[in-house]
Amino acid sequence: MTKKVVITFSDGSASRPLIYELIKKFDIMVSIIKADIDGGRNGKLVLELDSDSEHIRQAIDFMQTSGVDVTPLEKKISYDDSKCVSCGACTSACPSGALSIGAPDWKLRFQPDKCVVCKLCITACPLKLFHIEFAD
Ligand code: SF4
Ligand code: SF4
Repeated sequence: MTKKVVITFSDGSASRPLIYELIKKFDIMVSIIKADIDGGRNGKLVLELDSDSEHIRQAIDFMQTSGVDVTPLEKKISYDDSKCVSCGACTSACPSGALSIGAPDWKLRFQPDKCVVCKLCITACPLKLFHIEFAD
């Protein structure tokens, strides 16, 4: 599984070899999505952690007990419904039933609770109405 997290360093803790520790101690593949470190000491990193769920949980516990603030960054799909023409192309691509069209109005219906963020609708929509959002 992959999980995106925002790491916040304060009190000069950004100088520690955190990414090395995550790889070495927890066997996690770490991708840096965004880095904003002030003078190499304080700031934020957005990381994508790739491993099994238990290793990721242990790594997050380790960072939190080491005085580094860790906030999950969740992905969600949204779309511009004001431009949707209800063509149905995205409903055919959607594997979870989050997107559907039916009676009585035959307009696109989006149920975010069913969405598994597979992103297939992004390429399926001819009007490019879908996009990924990140929220913490
Ligand atoms: S991201 Fe996948 S599951 Fe979610 S609405 Fe799009 S196609 Fe459906
Ligand atoms: S593919 Fe795009 S235009 Fe067509 S129903 Fe889905 S969101 Fe609307």
